[in-house]
Amino acid sequence: MKIHAPKRVIVESAAVESALVASLHKNLPDASFEIVDKISDTRHRNPEILEVVDFRGKFLKSCPGTRHYHCCGYRILHFGAQCPLDCSYCILQAYLNQPNLRLFGNLDAMLGELSEVLAQNRRSLHRIGTGEFTDSLLLDPFTELSRLLVPYFARTPNAILELKTKTNFVENLRGLGHQGHTIIAWSLNSEEVRKREEPFAATIAERLKAARSCSGEGYFLAFHFDPIIDYPGWKSGYARTLDRLFAAVDPARIVWISLGALRFMPALKAIIRTRHPSSRIAYGEFIRGLDGKMRYFRDIRAEFYSFMVDRIRQADPCLCTYLCMEDDDIWKESFGFSPEERGGLSQMLDCAVEKRMNIGPFDL
Ligand code: SF4
Repeated sequence: MKIHAPKRVIVESAAVESALVASLHKNLPDASFEIVDKISDTRHRNPEILEVVDFRGKFLKSCPGTRHYHCCGYRILHFGAQCPLDCSYCILQAYLNQPNLRLFGNLDAMLGELSEVLAQNRRSLHRIGTGEFTDSLLLDPFTELSRLLVPYFARTPNAILELKTKTNFVENLRGLGHQGHTIIAWSLNSEEVRKREEPFAATIAERLKAARSCSGEGYFLAFHFDPIIDYPGWKSGYARTLDRLFAAVDPARIVWISLGALRFMPALKAIIRTRHPSSRIAYGEFIRGLDGKMRYFRDIRAEFYSFMVDRIRQADPCLCTYLCMEDDDIWKESFGFSPEERGGLSQMLDCAVEKRMNIGPFDL
């Protein structure tokens, strides 16, 4: 896929001496660098600009689950925001005050906060991921952030890192001593959805090739079919991607696969129609869920999940597969059990880490 090299880097003065800015200088020799006291919010989106700020908020956040649906208990390491891949369904389009790509320069503070949290509860497993507010690896060729995070997590006995991406930018991961504590994860979709709704991301073939190469480097893998989108022929489209996935990588290297049907805040519908006129996703029929988000009718979601779970079980009956933000009824219909019967979703994922990655045991 095409690499996205920012042309202009605006740096807050407090972050000028940071290791991140040094990497950007090294890897973006053609970019212009500008130093300002404070970067103010703007409503003008400029895909050529990268902002580096001295972040004053919390770097670790809980996964934005709600009490109405089963949540994975995952924590997000927040290292930046926005993403120029511009997928039609991306929630980040609704963050109108901060439309530009932004990274946090104070990585020392980020690692300091992380170390404090991990030290508080040494007997529990911490599943931590990036890639909620931006793609985990999109800027990695310039930031080399993976070269900081992967060795850091290799030294933490009670934590694993999941890097989630739609790119094939895995070059920096080669040769790192990861000690089996990092999962490299790809968001996958049918090829039809990939072309229409995420045209600037890597192709499915590129993602799977990168996954295979990471598996060869000893990394564990994960895959997220999210958002699953309804369209005529969806079954054959998703079946094809699953077949390609299991042909490309050994299922035993996959720690989990998540499934999540399209859901979005109502305000995003108008944004999708304006910014992505060729997208079809906003024209489906939706209901409003208990979390206020629009989602497909229950029967459509249940059919998606049953179909996918069945195909995954054919490849590996023991592979941990879970639903993102769904209730007991849908779980029972798709899997034949609810997460509570297995100790809760969080515990199911902790068990997958213990069994597949051979890390632990921990207090569950
Ligand atoms: S890759 Fe992820 S973060 Fe980037 S635009 Fe697509 S959905 Fe948003």
